[in-house]
Amino acid sequence: MELTKMSDGIYLIGIYGSFKVGLWLLESNGECALFEMPEADKNGESPAKIARRIIDQKGWKCKYLFLSHPHIDHSATIREFRETFPEAIFPAHYSIPMYMRVSEHYWTKSKREDKPVEFEEAWKNIKGNDPLWYLSFYNSITVDDITCYELGCEKIYMIYGPKHSLGDVHYIYRGCWFSGDWWIYEGDPSEDRIASSKAIMSLNRLEDFSILKDYKIHTVFPSHANNILRNVDFHDIITRTRKYQEKLEEKRKDGYDWTKFGLKELYYWVFTVMEKQKK
Ligand SMILES: [Zn+2]
Repeated sequence: MELTKMSDGIYLIGIYGSFKVGLWLLESNGECALFEMPEADKNGESPAKIARRIIDQKGWKCKYLFLSHPHIDHSATIREFRETFPEAIFPAHYSIPMYMRVSEHYWTKSKREDKPVEFEEAWKNIKGNDPLWYLSFYNSITVDDITCYELGCEKIYMIYGPKHSLGDVHYIYRGCWFSGDWWIYEGDPSEDRIASSKAIMSLNRLEDFSILKDYKIHTVFPSHANNILRNVDFHDIITRTRKYQEKLEEKRKDGYDWTKFGLKELYYWVFTVMEKQKK
């Protein structure tokens, strides 16, 4: 079994499932982090088991599990990863479990003609019998929009930045930007209809991060490992993408916002997280 080296300390274990999502591995000084939890290939081995075997063979320690956003193609095996790597810290920005709950509702309860039946199965696997399933995977929840995690001799920055979905989280590691399912430059086919104002806020946050930290981002790794961009002009990416979103502003005024999901549910959620973290 081979790891494909994508950059220093960054490997692709494979691309899995019908939506072809990458399972990534970041490593530094014997510590590693796994990124994304895709569904297995048809009749294929579970990506979690494959990752376990590779990490054990290398003698590395799995310190973190990370997720870009809780769409089903990225998180289908979240329960399996959690069980296969009980030693790992699984941090999440609070939007991830919150939006996971919303996403499940949207994909299984709304009347979508194009809704693939297997999605319902996948959600069932994720949920199990736990009524608070969407909270149960994470053992470190942050409300900060930028959080820094130590991995070996390196730092991983987790930055909240919705544009493709309300639960979008970006990771910056060794000059590389893990951009999830973001569409960059002009165009944005995202069907989640995120308000442009939110997308612009996210673009500004990423830009502020690079300016204030004087951090040079040279590579963009989308989760699906397609359209990898190397030697990028990060400022140009932000500027062009933002210009496009500014033009959309009028059209997407009715884009999704937290308040549309019901405050009652949000309050309930926040309090249960707090209770859980106290323990
Ligand atoms: Zn997605």
